[in-house]
Amino acid sequence: MSNRIILSFVSGEQMYRNFLTVDKTTALSYQVNVETTSVFSNDPQRVFVETENYITEETGLLTGNGGDIVGFLKVTNQSWANMSSTTAHDFPTTFPADWPEIEIAPFAIGLNDGVRNFASMAIGLLATFSRGNITISSSSTADAPIINPAFLTHPHDLILAITASKFARHLTSTSSLHSAIIEEVIPGPAVRTDAEIIVYLRGSMATFYHASCTCKMGRRNDSMAVVDSKARVIGITGLQVVDASVFPFSVPGQPQATVYMLAEKIAEVVMGDAQIVVVCRSLGR
Ligand SMILES: Cc1cc2nc3c(=O)[nH]c(=O)nc-3n(C[C@H](O)[C@H](O)[C@H](O)COP(=O)(O)OP(=O)(O)OC[C@H]3O[C@@H](n4cnc5c(N)ncnc54)[C@H](O)[C@@H]3O)c2cc1C
Repeated sequence: MSNRIILSFVSGEQMYRNFLTVDKTTALSYQVNVETTSVFSNDPQRVFVETENYITEETGLLTGNGGDIVGFLKVTNQSWANMSSTTAHDFPTTFPADWPEIEIAPFAIGLNDGVRNFASMAIGLLATFSRGNITISSSSTADAPIINPAFLTHPHDLILAITASKFARHLTSTSSLHSAIIEEVIPGPAVRTDAEIIVYLRGSMATFYHASCTCKMGRRNDSMAVVDSKARVIGITGLQVVDASVFPFSVPGQPQATVYMLAEKIAEVVMGDAQIVVVCRSLGR
């Protein structure tokens, strides 16, 4: 089999991307009046103390991973009502009724200046209309592919991202969280209008590390399908793809469990096929 054939089937055309707007310098980040892992910056002594606390007492800041809470949320009917009729129509008719559109993940990280404590409110989109793609740049496997995530290229995603940003801000204004917050640092209170939020989102978005779907599993008559239901590459004998790239759609949550499930299922298929071969050989076929 030539490299050309191997490379041609990985030229996925429908990479689904969730995106995340959290980074040490680009996030809905807040200065807070409780201790967060910000205290670790520039303070090796504190890292040592917390490490010892965790190992000996199982207490302290290291008992959490910095992102212990995550929320998968449905946009409310009231919010849909405030969107364009096309957007309000397309989401419910494209995604199942129980499909969450937004992920909110508070993180005990943010900026670090060695003095103040920071925390962030990360926003992920789980129902997206934008599709990226990955394309070969040459017939050599030594050359990196061209990856185009195409973040926020569909207007629906932009609208959802604005909604999610506003909801994250709403959360930080609730009585339970508000008392812990000193001020929003990024993007900051000056960023208020939809136009201003869009500029911020476009400049700050990053991957949620959940790229998938570039080798879609599907029926043989589906022009986008690369593998069949047994993860066998359509049109090539003896080759299976078993990873997140074969997801037919991006799962509305964290993908790792689905990767495990897929691997278990296809492992059974492979072992089943191997047993059939052994039986056939023993029958002399
Ligand atoms: C920073 C980060 C945080 C994440 N957090 C979460 C989370 O909290 N929850 C969650 O559900 N998901 C999370 N994910 C996503 C999750 O890890 C991925 O969706 C999942 O690992 C994808 O599985 P995969 O088998 O498709 O690919 P991978 O896990 O990337 O496996 C690919 C394997 O192929 C190997 N490989 C690559 N090239 C070659 C080669 N030429 N020859 C041989 N082997 C090769 C690699 O070493 C790797 O072991 C996170 C991802 C990242 C990067």
